[in-house]
Amino acid sequence: MKYLSFSLLLIVGVALSLTSCKDGNCTETLWYQDADNDGLGNPDVSQLACEQPSGFVNNDTDDDDSGEIEPGILTPVAAFDEFNPDAVTISFDGDQITIESNGIPNHTSPYYQESSSYYIDPVVAVSAQMSPGKIGSRSYSLTVSNAPKHAANSSVTGLGAIGISVTGAPIFNDEEGPNISLSENVASGFDYAGGHMGPTGYHYHLESADVEENTSLSFDDEKLVGILQDGFLLYGRRDYDGSYPTDLDESGGHFGITPHSNGAEVYHYHIINEFYIGSYILLFGVDLQGTPNAIM
Ligand SMILES: [Zn+2]
Ligand SMILES: [Zn+2]
Repeated sequence: MKYLSFSLLLIVGVALSLTSCKDGNCTETLWYQDADNDGLGNPDVSQLACEQPSGFVNNDTDDDDSGEIEPGILTPVAAFDEFNPDAVTISFDGDQITIESNGIPNHTSPYYQESSSYYIDPVVAVSAQMSPGKIGSRSYSLTVSNAPKHAANSSVTGLGAIGISVTGAPIFNDEEGPNISLSENVASGFDYAGGHMGPTGYHYHLESADVEENTSLSFDDEKLVGILQDGFLLYGRRDYDGSYPTDLDESGGHFGITPHSNGAEVYHYHIINEFYIGSYILLFGVDLQGTPNAIM
């Protein structure tokens, strides 16, 4: 009897599996393994299936699927405590974070009106090379995912704001105009914060300078610089433990612990520890690894 019921089960089981095998109404498609869970699949490991197998995606553009697991890692909320509360408002809505800023930084600069308490005479800026205009109120708004992911392709950054810094002023890339790279001449007019005025207001291109007047901005350290338009955080040249990271990708990014991630590994950018022109170091002159959101 025992033997019989076992055979019956076996027959039923085989019949069932045959039925599902024979179910020819579905169209099998190729799925690619996504071992690091970044939404990008490994072109070398695939399987045909009607329905998406667990751990597989319909994308074959991951050129390194062996990296750290990225299970929709949340941007560490503690990072937002670093933003200048006089300029920046952070709002959380479901899986989105909105960063709004009036663009007025909380450090001294010769780009302030002389009547401002933040005005100082130039420290590093060559007066004759300073751009025209004074710091005034602007309006920037950036909405990002609270769990930004790598995009299938990296994105070049454009003119204008590519991120919002902790001071509230926007971060620009290495361009001063359409296809016009920063020149040493232009950069010599920057204040110690690595910023100057443009037609759209005060903004940073460079890492700040190591001068006595600089009491808050990242210089050769692990401080948070800001958030870029793809939602990834930008930190100073050093990692949380004071070392220079050695595993950065071409965008200066890597997975790792940050001063705000409470021991969790998140993807973040660092200022790349290389001179751009002279002894100037760019904040971010490379491509974005995530999907850029508009800064309005
Ligand atoms: Zn500029
Ligand atoms: Zn790092």
